[in-house]
Amino acid sequence: MRPWNFSAGPSTLPLEVLQQAAAEMTDWRGSGMSVMEMSHRGKHYMQIRDEAEADLRELLGVSDDFAVLFMQGGATAQNALVPLNLIGRNGSGKADYLVCGSWSNKSYKEALRYGDIAVAASSGEETELDGGKYAPWTWFPAVDTWRVRPDSAYVHLCSNETIGGVEFMDWPDMAELGAPGVPLVIDASSHILSRPFDFSRVGMVYAGAQKNAGPAGVTLVIVRKDLIGHASPACPSALDYANVAQADSMFNTPPTYAIYVAGLVFKWLKKLGGVEAIERENIAKAELLYGYLEQSGFYSNPVHRPVRSRMNVPFVLADESLNSTFLAESEQAGLLALKGHKLVGGMRASIYNAMPLAGVQALVDFMRDFEKRHG
Ligand SMILES: *Cc1c(COP(=O)(O)O)cnc(C)c1O
Repeated sequence: MRPWNFSAGPSTLPLEVLQQAAAEMTDWRGSGMSVMEMSHRGKHYMQIRDEAEADLRELLGVSDDFAVLFMQGGATAQNALVPLNLIGRNGSGKADYLVCGSWSNKSYKEALRYGDIAVAASSGEETELDGGKYAPWTWFPAVDTWRVRPDSAYVHLCSNETIGGVEFMDWPDMAELGAPGVPLVIDASSHILSRPFDFSRVGMVYAGAQKNAGPAGVTLVIVRKDLIGHASPACPSALDYANVAQADSMFNTPPTYAIYVAGLVFKWLKKLGGVEAIERENIAKAELLYGYLEQSGFYSNPVHRPVRSRMNVPFVLADESLNSTFLAESEQAGLLALKGHKLVGGMRASIYNAMPLAGVQALVDFMRDFEKRHG
């Protein structure tokens, strides 16, 4: 059996997907070519690409009002490409950012180069909630505290902060915030396809594939068609959403192999029953792990309960001097990559779609045993 891999990204892929990619490595379905060796404009690859887009649309319920783009540069490049493509949409040159963790803070800082950027709300300070104290980046600002300018080109948020382990899904109707028509732009890198998304509430969703959707190298961009076509003259042609959409993501050579493997992940997910089915599994996994952390005095999770991420679960040991022992023993037990992000310390278990309940059970069993021996 393979070890359980809790890496935050690139992260574990479904074994079936890896096995299929291996079986098709040197000869894709009688074509005589590896997918890596095919022309991106040939009939074999066109089929792979078209099916990947159709399956992604079906899984997420994305209508024809949206373009689905396969891009490169990761979510990090989108930090510049979002303003370069969208801030000229309505002539205001303005955009508002929710700054609620390491990733959205990076998005905000990059955007400052491209327009009149304001903070809609931030969780960068310690706060008191429900009678408890919460450190920066461990909570999410209530929607009624957001300040959104009615003439902003968009509002940006990160709906799952991979490092802090904060997930926010109550996407508001902007009309309720006095900013009707201002589209939400969402970095969903680390939880796309883990649950249904309400596309009626968003203008754009983007995600690097390597957390929950496939290998590194392809970035998924799902953007409402009426928002594009106003890119800044400084935007590289190959990265102008309108150009990429018009060329079916073939404005230049796309990351063909990464798209192919992501396409296999989409088919795997459809076979499992889609995002509703995987959501039930993800809830069960999160309840198992958080439930264990809750009753333990040995481990703890710092995040405000209503916004704890189902995908990324940071936790600390009460006795930090045991960290290296925990990591060494967990690796020995076949539980990989549990070391927390350096900004947060402690441990982090990323339990994406491809991590089955049995893997989380193995983690909890190990943690219980470790607590018994060291607690
Ligand atoms: C990993 C991650 C990024 C950065 O992705 P790259 O592909 O490395 O650019 C951005 N946002 C979130 C939420 C992430 O999890």
